[in-house]
Amino acid sequence: MTEPTFEGVLAAARRIEAHAHRTPVMSSRTLDAELGATVHLKCENLQRMGAFKFRGAFNALASLDPSRRKAGVVAFSSGNHAQAIALSASLLDMPATILMPHDAPAAKVAATRGYGGKVVVYDRYREDREQIGRALAERDGLTLIPPYDHPDVICGQGTAARELFEQAGELDALFVPLGGGGLLSGSALVRAALAPDCQLYGVEPEAGDDGQRSLRSGSIVHIDTPRTIADGAQTQHLGTLTFPIIRREVTDILTASDAELVDTMRFLAERMKLVVEPTGCLGLAAARRMGAQLRGKRVGVLLSGGNVDMARFAELLAAS
Ligand SMILES: *Cc1c(COP(=O)(O)O)cnc(C)c1O
Repeated sequence: MTEPTFEGVLAAARRIEAHAHRTPVMSSRTLDAELGATVHLKCENLQRMGAFKFRGAFNALASLDPSRRKAGVVAFSSGNHAQAIALSASLLDMPATILMPHDAPAAKVAATRGYGGKVVVYDRYREDREQIGRALAERDGLTLIPPYDHPDVICGQGTAARELFEQAGELDALFVPLGGGGLLSGSALVRAALAPDCQLYGVEPEAGDDGQRSLRSGSIVHIDTPRTIADGAQTQHLGTLTFPIIRREVTDILTASDAELVDTMRFLAERMKLVVEPTGCLGLAAARRMGAQLRGKRVGVLLSGGNVDMARFAELLAAS
């Protein structure tokens, strides 16, 4: 395994080209008027399996050598990474085992099985998923693919920002949702190579501001699992690969509150007919909060995913 680089992003783009969607970039006059800016929204909610995670997962699996491919992969996640690994493995004709907590939403378990993944359930209060994952990997010769701290995952995620720069042209600022930092560090490699003058902001949930604190303090801050509706960004710390890139390249890390996420989710649904999950709204929520500072600028935003159960979607909108 090698350090993630821009060349790695270009190689990932070639690997995923025939399988991933080149998602559309959309705009809204209402949004442009609100911010006094030109805003380009990269719609990864319309990516295969509903989130950018497909990019990194497919790139990581497609990079494995034939013997490793044959043995299969294992991943632990109850969210988009699990579905991305299950779908990518089935496209590449590889067996995939996904470790999920016993109380994972039935819809997510069903979706992972639907993509051909073998689901192994563990007790999240009594068992350590990393330990189980490693034990399974060792016993059956499986390759463990982590959700963000992996060079091929980071390079795969970077392909979304590369497409955005191609589709939207020059940008003055780019807003990217932040959990463990795979998407942000991949975007940072692209920005450094293609648009060094573009400001780059990572955006995390207000309740889980470990990234912001890590950037300020200069070392990785660990927190308890944050309580937030942004379930794709409930990470406890940045990665040892993602943090140095973020620290070197990112302009700042901002936060958005759950109320701002719901407000942005409603705006995207009502005005643009886009279903975006709470985590996917982080970037746009922060851009809207920044407001006047963006006046006259060309702004890019990654809408990172759209996997929200419709009952949950309605409940969140009704409650605010
Ligand atoms: C995983 C995920 C994120 C966070 O990505 P990281 O690479 O962990 O920072 C953001 N949005 C969605 C929809 C996700 O699934």
